[in-house]
Amino acid sequence: PLLAQPSLIYLLAITALIVALLFVRGRLAGKVAVITGGASGIGKATAAEFVRNGARVIIADVQDDLGWAVAEELGGRDDDHSAVRYVRCDVTDEAQVAAAVDLAVALHGRLDVMFNNAGITGALSPTPLGSMDMADFDRVMAVNLRGVVAGVKHAARVMVPRRRGSIICTASTTALLGGLAPPAYTASKAAVAGLVRATAGEMARSGVRVNAISPHAVPTPLAITGMAQWFPGTDVEERRRIVEEMNEMVGPALEAEDIARAAMYLASDEAKYVNGHNLVVDGGFTVNKQLNV
Ligand code: NAD
Repeated sequence: PLLAQPSLIYLLAITALIVALLFVRGRLAGKVAVITGGASGIGKATAAEFVRNGARVIIADVQDDLGWAVAEELGGRDDDHSAVRYVRCDVTDEAQVAAAVDLAVALHGRLDVMFNNAGITGALSPTPLGSMDMADFDRVMAVNLRGVVAGVKHAARVMVPRRRGSIICTASTTALLGGLAPPAYTASKAAVAGLVRATAGEMARSGVRVNAISPHAVPTPLAITGMAQWFPGTDVEERRRIVEEMNEMVGPALEAEDIARAAMYLASDEAKYVNGHNLVVDGGFTVNKQLNV
């Protein structure tokens, strides 16, 4: 019989080894991640980075067409065996956040990384506090803070019993510095940084890490579209230029991929002792007065 020939057995063994190595490659090999706001901008770039590094990813967003398109672009299919999937998940609804987490466990048996990244700008016009629209304030808080709280809560629900996992929450340089964005957005991001500090201790004792990432201006739809109200009368290209100029004050252009790589580090076991940290990705903007005058 063919299999009795030693050379063929060696060949099969080597092929199996190569196939196995191909499948377990990457810094996130074997990990399962949920990314809220994964259909666009930073979330989309992070989904791509995670997949490239061997993770299985569930993209959770409210933009269904875009979400499915991104999943497909990353090699995903609409079936239970797909390594990349989209799920509709409005983070303002706790039940939908719980369902996205449960989907990861149902499909892949685990959740290793929860990236609480969905966010909105709210009304960006620099209105005085006296004329703040409280409905707008509530909307911003519901997505940017309450949505993150729900993400931390439900990720912890499945991670703590396994005593491992990495929770990452997108804050912002506005969490550290006033005057970059209007009060509602600024307050929501400062609260996210506070939430991370508040939960890191409890999580550490449970074997789970929770960290924040604070990006500076990245030319995503959120920044470009949101700024429309901040710079009335400007078109998309002019606003893209404004974001680029904000970056040029600091150094090279900041891109969504730069944030994705920071998220990948926090998600990976390379960051196993990094907990309760706010990883600021701003080229030094917030620590040096000369860079933010
Ligand atoms: P983006 O608009 O490209 O992506 C945000 C995503 O969040 C979108 O796909 C959107 O559909 C989704 N989303 C909005 N509301 C949602 C909801 N209720 N439930 C689920 N998903 C929802 O913008 P981005 O710049 O990639 O933003 C990602 C995160 O980064 C946000 O939290 C944002 O505040 C933060 N951030 C962005 C910048 C920047 O300059 N772009 C700077 C600092 C922080």
